[in-house]
Parts: sequence; C-alpha cells; structure tokens
Amino acid sequence: MAIIGIDLGTTNSLACTWQNGRCVIIPNRFGKELTPSAVSIDEDGTLYIGAIAKERLITHPDDSIALFKRTMGSNQIYTLQGKQYTSEELSSFVIRQLVDDAKAYLQEEIEEAIISVPAYFNDAQRSATKQAGALAGIKVERLINEPSAAALFARSNQDEECFLIFDFGGGTLDISIVECFEQIISILAVSGDNHLGGSDFDHAIADAFCEENDLFFEDLSPQEERMLLRQCEEMKITLSQKEEVTNQITFKERIYSFTLSSRKLIMRAPDLFERLLTPIHKALHDAGRTPHDLDQIIMVGGSSKMPTVKSYLEMKLERTILNHNECERIVAMGIGMYAGIKQRAQDIKDLILTDICPFTLGINIHNESDPNNPYMHAIIERNSPLPSSVEHNFYTIHDDQKAVDIKIFQGESMYANHNLLLGKTEVKVKQGKAGEYPIKVRFTYDINGILDVDILDTGSQNKETLLITPAHTTMSEAEIEKARKALEKLKFHPREEDQNKLILSRLERLFEESTMEQREYIITLHKQFEAVLEKQDRIQIEVYRKKFEAIVDTLERELHPYQPTYH
Ligand code: ADP
Ligand code: MG
Repeated sequence: MAIIGIDLGTTNSLACTWQNGRCVIIPNRFGKELTPSAVSIDEDGTLYIGAIAKERLITHPDDSIALFKRTMGSNQIYTLQGKQYTSEELSSFVIRQLVDDAKAYLQEEIEEAIISVPAYFNDAQRSATKQAGALAGIKVERLINEPSAAALFARSNQDEECFLIFDFGGGTLDISIVECFEQIISILAVSGDNHLGGSDFDHAIADAFCEENDLFFEDLSPQEERMLLRQCEEMKITLSQKEEVTNQITFKERIYSFTLSSRKLIMRAPDLFERLLTPIHKALHDAGRTPHDLDQIIMVGGSSKMPTVKSYLEMKLERTILNHNECERIVAMGIGMYAGIKQRAQDIKDLILTDICPFTLGINIHNESDPNNPYMHAIIERNSPLPSSVEHNFYTIHDDQKAVDIKIFQGESMYANHNLLLGKTEVKVKQGKAGEYPIKVRFTYDINGILDVDILDTGSQNKETLLITPAHTTMSEAEIEKARKALEKLKFHPREEDQNKLILSRLERLFEESTMEQREYIITLHKQFEAVLEKQDRIQIEVYRKKFEAIVDTLERELHPYQPTYH
C-alpha cells in the first residue's frame, strides 16, 4: 500500500511518491510526467482526461473543459453533454486517473493521497479539494500548501535558510517566505494573485497577433480562440530557448507569419510583469524581510521557465536567482517527500513542518454609518503561525441589550459580508448599560484547519462554544457516497486504448490547425489508423501505433517547427 502525493494544478497535475529513500515522479499512461488538468466527454458519454481531453479542447470545445481549479469551492457549474458538473467533480476525474496510473506504475494499491493546494485557498476551497478526493474514492487526510511542498524539496543541508518561493503556473501566482531552521520548516508569510499566470501571456501574444493582422480577438468563436491561444502558447514556450521566433500561424484556413521576441512580449504586456511584484513585496513585508535577507529565490511552475520573468525579477529585486531546471516538478517532489514523512519512512522521519494561517479570521462588528454593512474585526491575523489562540473583548452597543449575534468570517475585506461566513451564534448577555460588561471571544485555530470559538459574557457568565471544521459547508459522507456512485456510472475510456485514442485526437487537432493540402494527408492517416484499430489485432495495433506515433510527431514538427517536445 503506497501513499502518493498529487500536485493538482490549474493547468497540469503530477503524482509523486517516496520510494527507497527518494522522490519518484510517477509517469502517466502515456509515459509523461504532466497530466493536463482537462476533462472531455463524448456523445456516448465516454470520459477522457488529460492529454486526450487537451486535444479535444480544440476539436470539441463544447464538450471539453480546463482551468476548473479556478472555481474550486464555488457554485460554478460546467455543462458537458447536457449534464452538469462542479469543479470538485471534474477534479475528482483527474485525481482518479492519476491514482489509476500510479496503481499501474507502482503495481500496488494506493492507500492515501496527499494533495497540494495554493497557500491562500480558503476553507471552502480546501474542503472542496478534499471532497474531490473523496469523490475519486481515495482517502485524503492532509492537504499541503504548494509553496510548503516546494520549500520542503528545495532546502539544502544548511542549518538555517530563508527562501522566497515564486510559484508561477498557468493561472496563478503564489509567493511564500519560508524559513528552515535545523529540522523545522516554517512558512513566515504567503501572498499571491490567483488571476495571473502563463495563460495571460498567451492572451497578450494573441492580442498582438490580432492587432498586426487586423483581426479582433473578441470576434473569434470559442474554438478559434482556443486554436489561436494554443499556437501562441507554443511560441511563448519557444522563447525560453530562443530570443526571437517566427512561426507560421494557421488560422481561419490562412497562414500568417508572426514574429515574437522576448522584448516584444515585455513591450506588449508590461502590466503582467509589474503585477509579479505586488505579492512579492506584500509577502516580504509581512515576513519582515528584504530581498537581500533571502538565501535563495526558488522559481517554481511552468511559467517560471520564461527567461524574461527571471531577468525581470533579478533586475527589480537587485539580486541573482539560481536556475532550477525542474520548475514544473518541484511541488510534486515536495509532496512526495511529505508522503515519505507521513509513511514514517526511516530516512526523513524527524522533519517537522509548521504552517501558518493564510487568511484572517474574525467576527462582525457594528458599523455606525451603515448598520446593514458590519465591519470585519480580525481576531487571528493572516500569516499567524499555527496553532494560534487569541482572545479579544467586545461590547454591547445599546442599553439593555439582551443578546449579541456573533458571526464568524474568513477573509481580508474590511466589510464582514464580503468575506466567507464560517458560522454564527447568538449569545444571551446580562442586561445593563451599553458596553458595561466585556464579552470575551477566543479563537483557537489548529494545523488541521479546525477553528474553536469560545464566547464568554462576563456579566452573566454565559458561555457559548462553536467548533468549525473545514468541511462545515460541504456534503455529508452519505451524500459523497451517493455522488461517487453516480460518477462511477460514467464510462471511463479504457486505459489500454488511451494511447490509440491520443493518436486519433492529435490528428483531429492537427487537421484543424493545417490547410488544404496537409488536411488530405491527415485524413488519410486518420482513416488508416482507424482501419488498423478495427481489425482488433493487438500485436498489429502495437506495431502500427509506434509507426503512427512517429508520423504524428514528425507532422507536429513540420507544422510547429520550433516546438521542442510534445506534451
Ligand atoms: P499549474 O501549476 O497552473 O497547473 P504549471 O506549473 O504546469 O501550471 O504551468 C503551466 C504554464 O506554464 C502554462 O501556462 C505553460 O504555457 C507554461 N509553460 C510551460 N513551459 C514553459 C516554457 N518553457 N516557457 C514558458 N512558459 C511555459
Ligand atoms: Mg502548480
């Protein structure tokens, strides 16, 4: 029985485990480390996850979805083939596939998964992530902050180190300041921007392309948008190897020549670069550090591979940053180590991880100028070390007031109602003059995200206790079981046929990205491979699959000459 770590990303997900004293990234059914966090369902209700779903985002945009992690824990509904799904459900498909692939690779049952989440996910988002695990039928006891995982992996053997973890993915930027002292790893501060990522650069490039060719991005159909964005992303990725790149962009059956350079990208999207700095300064400020107090800045996430991002940070922070070639794997490697800690593996058992509260917890207080819009009064401040226990006094506002309504909120807004409501209660108080007796409210918040609220009216000695667990807003076990059964009825595309399906899906996507002449060739290939599959001869299929894979790879290189490897 193995414990695996899952980096459940907005764009890509990875699985990792601790084996024989080291982290092992678990390759998926296609032999790749990254599984795109994408889901697609076809007309007969067959479910595709990962690489095939990513191809189908282009060819079947209405039946395919990505980036759903952005709405984790919200009420957002996605419709696929007329059925509705939440972000938790879609994420559960990705988790299920990673677990299946891990089971096949490790040749053993998976006992438990540890999943990483962005540091500033609130309670609702964390509960939703755990629920996604439950819906996938896997035990998820512990979540780990993505930057904590990165720090765990990146630390060296020095006694004392302070890092800034810069995690720049497809849709989010996470910053954290981490201190390692002997065997203890503590997070001093976290900050971030969950609407800033690699896809914003893809959009900026697409805008530049449209502007140069008198096209309007807003006028494109969703499918045209995705096709263009995909080609722009490819060009952006090429810029990590070349200063300038010229590509033939096939679009609306025409071929456009388009040149992109790092310099042009900076000129086109200066705001995206500037926005990188805000959370960095916020986190440094919260931790009471300057860039020069840091032993290292660790760049994590696919977008950290952009040379312009690194040089921009070096210039603005006035210091050098070490190059890490493993940007995309660092979080997964850290969770793999954490899996080792949880398994009590001999080699790393005496490591201690501490955590911080990534958001403010408080209660509502009266707002004289607008009584319907109460203020938020912080009790446990953002970035407090955990566990944490804090008490504040509050007072009645009217003479002879009989009771006070106490609502518990999480979030950074000045107004209580703009934050996330975690629970509420009414406390009877001793009648008297306004503000005569203090009402003591104590918050105790532990490392598993359980909040204990103790309220004492000192006038009457009335006590009220509230226990808020992370799953408070979500489904009961019976409901999860029912939902899991319903999801299990969906037909998962047979694992052993996925490699064949991926070849067909890539051909379908290449068809859309190419013009007349090539299209005929692609159709012929597609028909030929389908004919091979129809014969159902396993050995023959195996032989032809290899051949077709090579042909499709070549075709891909011809169409997109600078693309170094295919994911
Ligand atoms: P997430 O954590 O959001 O799932 P990843 O860390 O996998 O995402 O990063 C995905 C993003 O990284 C995508 O926007 C992708 O375009 C970008 N990316 C991957 N490789 C490169 C590269 N070599 N240069 C620039 N961007 C890259
Ligand atoms: Mg990530």
